[in-house]
Amino acid sequence: MSAFPGQALVLHLGKETLVLEQSSGLDSATIRSSSDRLIVSVGSRVIPAMALACSGRSDDAVDFMLTIPDKITRHYHGTLQIQSSARSLSVVVTMDRETAVASVVAAESAPDTPLEALKAEAIAARTYLVAARGRHHDFDFCDTTHCQFLREPPATTSAAAIAASSTRALVLAYESQPFAAMYTRSCSGRTRTPAELGLPSATYPYYSVECKYCRDHPVHWTRRISRQDASSLRSSNESVRLIVDRRLGWDMIPSDAFKIEKAADHITLRGVGEGHGIGLCQAGAKAMAHDGAGFQQILNHYYPNTTIISWR
Ligand SMILES: [Zn+2]
Ligand SMILES: [Zn+2]
Repeated sequence: MSAFPGQALVLHLGKETLVLEQSSGLDSATIRSSSDRLIVSVGSRVIPAMALACSGRSDDAVDFMLTIPDKITRHYHGTLQIQSSARSLSVVVTMDRETAVASVVAAESAPDTPLEALKAEAIAARTYLVAARGRHHDFDFCDTTHCQFLREPPATTSAAAIAASSTRALVLAYESQPFAAMYTRSCSGRTRTPAELGLPSATYPYYSVECKYCRDHPVHWTRRISRQDASSLRSSNESVRLIVDRRLGWDMIPSDAFKIEKAADHITLRGVGEGHGIGLCQAGAKAMAHDGAGFQQILNHYYPNTTIISWR
């Protein structure tokens, strides 16, 4: 990890405190795991520690770069906790909810998405962050498609950041309660309900609504997989799709709407849409905004019977 120009990154290692700063010449630290401990290297010093916490000078959020070799190099704004667990490192970044909303919108929205559609996505993302906390044992969300995909916080002048700040604190509520609002990249011309896909019913019932844009502009896909890989596969079952995607790669089966064609040595899947198809359809929302719809109209369409409330 390394400090940002002009900012101090304070490392707390048990009783010891170290400051990483570009002006001091020591601006980065390397952390690895050794059995149940962390080994922290800063310059020529090597310090073993049980845990590491990083923040700004007043224990506040700070900008820093985090590199996980062969995985990510990413700018974060927040605080950081690292622990060693079972010979691996557990890295948890704590950030302001609004920073997370802007980062999720920047990571998950298609380019050229109009502002009103981005605002609808920001509200859906914020609602999810409010309602679905604690998805993991020691932290709330991971940064894969399992929870919500996150990238660096976007520039404050970016459309994603403006969509987040102009809808600050707004969430979707069903019977006055925020719910884990699901959304999908595109759909098959109608959105789907959790029940249709074999998922347990959610606090919000969801509805299958028409999506005009996807009906007229379906995203078709074709995949060829081995008979063995396809043995457990069936259409319209989100849990099975996720199991197969986890094993073969996240884009192996793009959606739950597909037909299976069997050949002697392989299976061909012909499908439509990207994602589970539940809740807000990002392709449809983008088209609605192009046609002049505001974010309230978009949210009302994809999440019927909900209201937009302020959540602090
Ligand atoms: Zn997760
Ligand atoms: Zn759609």
